[in-house]
Amino acid sequence: MRIYNSQSRQKEEFIPLKEGQAGVYCCGPTVYDYFHIGNARPFIMFDLLRRVLKRQGLKVTYVQNFTDIDDKMILRAKREGISVKELGDRFIAEYFRDAGALGVEPADEHPRATAHIPQIITLIEGLVDRGLAYEAGGDVYYSAADFPGYGKLSGQNMEELEDGARVALDEDKRSPMDFALWKAAKPGEPSWDSPWGKGRPGWHIECSAMSMSLLGESIDIHCGGQDLIFPHHENEIAQSEGATGKPFVRYWMHNGFLNINSEKMSKSRGNFFTVRDILKEYDAEEVRMLMLSAHYRSPLNFSREMMEQARASLTRLYTARDHLAFLLEKTEDKAPQPADEAFAKEAQEALARFDQALGDDLNTAEALGALFDLVYQVNTGLNEHSARNAVQAAWDTLHEATSLLGLLTKKREELPQEVTALAQKRAQARKDRDWKQSDALRAEITALGYTVEDTPQGQKVRKAL
Ligand code: AMP
Ligand code: ZN
Repeated sequence: MRIYNSQSRQKEEFIPLKEGQAGVYCCGPTVYDYFHIGNARPFIMFDLLRRVLKRQGLKVTYVQNFTDIDDKMILRAKREGISVKELGDRFIAEYFRDAGALGVEPADEHPRATAHIPQIITLIEGLVDRGLAYEAGGDVYYSAADFPGYGKLSGQNMEELEDGARVALDEDKRSPMDFALWKAAKPGEPSWDSPWGKGRPGWHIECSAMSMSLLGESIDIHCGGQDLIFPHHENEIAQSEGATGKPFVRYWMHNGFLNINSEKMSKSRGNFFTVRDILKEYDAEEVRMLMLSAHYRSPLNFSREMMEQARASLTRLYTARDHLAFLLEKTEDKAPQPADEAFAKEAQEALARFDQALGDDLNTAEALGALFDLVYQVNTGLNEHSARNAVQAAWDTLHEATSLLGLLTKKREELPQEVTALAQKRAQARKDRDWKQSDALRAEITALGYTVEDTPQGQKVRKAL
């Protein structure tokens, strides 16, 4: 597996810390609302990363956190007249509903920040002891300038960063680049006891604490959207490496942004869509197909046209599956013919290219290309004269690839008996060259919501779209 490491800005061979294993931490949602279609991108793509790593034989531990305490949580809970805990519980449940609908599997661990306060406090204490953090009026700040590697992920040096930062007026920070690890309690806000008095953790420290307590001080892969590179992930490095003196993350992966009709998604522009809304209009597999159609690091445009393209691609997959199902019934067990052998070779090659593409920094666009080559071969290289074995192998290969991508998950609907009986009668009528009867039977089948197509291999009956 090759991974583009945001820190080195190049693709690197993935060498896990422990042979045969991979520890992956992905920054998850702040659970103050339903998640939006932009958030769905890292959730889908890094869940796919985990599937690909597993397919390559690695034992993967995949962690995705829930940020369940911050200003947005406090504000929304107040507005709704419920506790921050209740708000978190509610939107964590909604996360699982929407992520599940999108085919995103639950992570191995979904830690909540508020369930890791002791680990967070211990980490901050360590940083204070090492002279990297200081207390000021019940807050605790990280002294960025005291961490020598500060800026290494985002590729900025301290002078550039300080020039770019506006001096914060309302806080007790010593330097504008310093950031809060612990925030003193304000009236009416949830708070926890700490050596610095009652308060709550800052956002960055929670990911350092949860990542290290669940996956160890050094982890293989850490991922999230590219907006998190600075300051969130830069700060995570400073906190974790500052505390342990060990490298925190070996490979940083960041996804590009999803835009709506080529514009940044925002509530004020009125182009903000939750996954819950999108799934009222589009099928979840169409959303997955859209996400897979672009490389995860490129920007991705969500538009009606793109969704129509995704729908058309998906239809091609389902049509190939129908074709194979039809051939499974029509073909006979016999020794493979030369044409079957040629087909098998091409199908194997397509699957190998599929795996290669995914192993090359998760190049899903190219992997889909290989999958559609396979579909083309299925449509052109197999027919009723093929050996059933060859058809079965094609069916298995198609499902091996699509199940990894979370596509073609809908069960094939069995035709109702009534429709099958009519189709059989119609086949007989056609044999008898009774065209009038055959047309009448077609009309009956159509009236039941099915279509009949006469092909050189016989009639194909399927549910009308
Ligand atoms: P948040 O809840 O805002 O912290 O976001 C959760 C995840 O979604 C983070 O990894 C973000 O970087 C990512 N994210 C947020 N907005 C977008 C977007 N428009 N496109 C792609 N990823 C996004
Ligand atoms: Zn994080």
